[in-house]
Amino acid sequence: MTSSLLSSRSTPAKATEQNALASADFAAKLASTQALLQRAAAEFKPLTQASSLGAEDVVITHLINSLQLDIPVFVLETGSLHTETLALLERTQAHSRAPIKVFRPVHESVIQFVRDKGQDAMYQSIELRKACCNVRKLEPLSRALNGQKAWITGLRQEQSPARAEVPLLDESEVLSKNLYKFNPLASWTWGDVWHYIAENQVDYNPLHDQFFPSIGCAPCTRAISLGEEFRAGRWWWEDEAAKECGLHVKG
Ligand code: SF4
Repeated sequence: MTSSLLSSRSTPAKATEQNALASADFAAKLASTQALLQRAAAEFKPLTQASSLGAEDVVITHLINSLQLDIPVFVLETGSLHTETLALLERTQAHSRAPIKVFRPVHESVIQFVRDKGQDAMYQSIELRKACCNVRKLEPLSRALNGQKAWITGLRQEQSPARAEVPLLDESEVLSKNLYKFNPLASWTWGDVWHYIAENQVDYNPLHDQFFPSIGCAPCTRAISLGEEFRAGRWWWEDEAAKECGLHVKG
């Protein structure tokens, strides 16, 4: 199921005003999310949160901080993020109780990729787009997850058909990588996410106020229009089925 994301383009409003709408069972969802995070912190060590600094991820980091859990957070700074995202990263580093670690791609690899394939290679083919994601995201991700027992993501079932079956605890990478993945917001709606942000005055990426529900690298993210799906602004020139960068694709 996908969200109805926008009420009107002609009514400028904060993302909190546009989207905050708690589910009837929000209090129970929040309690079980908090319990899951506490259990994860107690039983899965080392454990880390992967944050893109999107709406879901700032909620999770806020929960980690408010529950005073010893869960470090990491951000993949791809070298192609929006200035708004980089500014939020700075603010988060300054104010978070949980340490915020930043992982960047290997500089020489980026230079070589751009020299060989061009600055706009991602628009030329899916293969080149995935190659760019590999250099800028997947290699740093593998370093970020190296030695971890589990990681926490902001995946939600509502985000796309490909994510409709996202479980609270994903054990599909245990055999291959000895890695558990927690998706504590799996059952949260977009309205739940923004209800939490509004209620707790969580700092968020101002691009969300400009109709960017899903925020990635600047060249690969655009605002969405009324009626478009949640992830329509990500790699919008590709088919829907191809729209994962590899971070959450099961091999
Ligand atoms: S999202 Fe775009 S710019 Fe970012 S790593 Fe992937 S292809 Fe490259």
